[in-house]
Amino acid sequence: MKFYKSAAILGAALLTASGAVAQERFITIGTGGQTGVYFVVGQSICRLVNRGSADHGLKCTAPSTGGSIANINAIKAGDMDMGVAQSDWQFHAYNGSSQFEGDKFDGLRAVFSVHGEPFTVVARADAGISNFDDLFGKRVNVGNPGSGQRATMDVVLGAMGKSDADFALASELKPAEQSAALGDNKVDAIIYTVGHPNGSIQEATSTVDAKLVNVTGDAIDKLVADNPYYAKATIPGGLYKGNDEDTQTFGVKATFVTSADVADDVVYTVVKAVFDNFDRFKGLHPAFANLKEEDMIADGLSAPLHPGAEQYYKERGWIN
Ligand code: GLU
Repeated sequence: MKFYKSAAILGAALLTASGAVAQERFITIGTGGQTGVYFVVGQSICRLVNRGSADHGLKCTAPSTGGSIANINAIKAGDMDMGVAQSDWQFHAYNGSSQFEGDKFDGLRAVFSVHGEPFTVVARADAGISNFDDLFGKRVNVGNPGSGQRATMDVVLGAMGKSDADFALASELKPAEQSAALGDNKVDAIIYTVGHPNGSIQEATSTVDAKLVNVTGDAIDKLVADNPYYAKATIPGGLYKGNDEDTQTFGVKATFVTSADVADDVVYTVVKAVFDNFDRFKGLHPAFANLKEEDMIADGLSAPLHPGAEQYYKERGWIN
């Protein structure tokens, strides 16, 4: 539900510290599965916003969702106010390309980008998989519908002239289910576009002998060369049990997006809560530790900046 509708229905008011009356308004942030990093992004932003509720009246919740595509669609439908989405799907939604062909979202607005998300493949050590090409003929969890990885996997397969039909099984389990399926030998490999380290891959590599797999080759080189939202990525060794070597792949950025229909002061308040408390934010997940403000307001953003975000960045002197 959109915040202004809730506020109108409830007509609630809060007395602020200074004695002024702040209208109570609710905002919802779309995240991802509970074992991923988007969930922590949303929860962390809400935690910082809600610390100031007595002053600004905003109350923030960040439920678990299907991921990038589900979040963009929910924002477009007005069911959610903001959400986390991969930079490739922000690009396609705003430009009406790829999965969003014929379904352009002109009102999509960028707020900031967050951590990098390598396209991550984890295989059982006993499955004989050492590069992406070895997945063909195997049982692969290609990701739940609505997730960024499901959609990016389709792009990767298309670039290789392949499809789901080239796998012995293409299952669509959610991130919270796929690590257990790998451990139980229901699938040989799982796919996740996700920041590192994260609970999901930790679970996968600690329940069974499992290896991160390189995603390299001509088709990947061409995808990276042709598309501004992809870059080569390395998952450093030592993050997960039994995986001491670096893994080579490509990746995107996690980005925070909203709609042009969301009020400027709401987006301003959310952005201010994050960047006025940036050290605290960075401490809330190891994937946030190396974030830098100047990268976050520029990298991976292809939709226009929301005016509420722009106002804060101007005040800080980060943009003109
Ligand atoms: N990149 C994934 C998606 O778009 C979500 C990753 C996460 O939850 O951290 O669905």
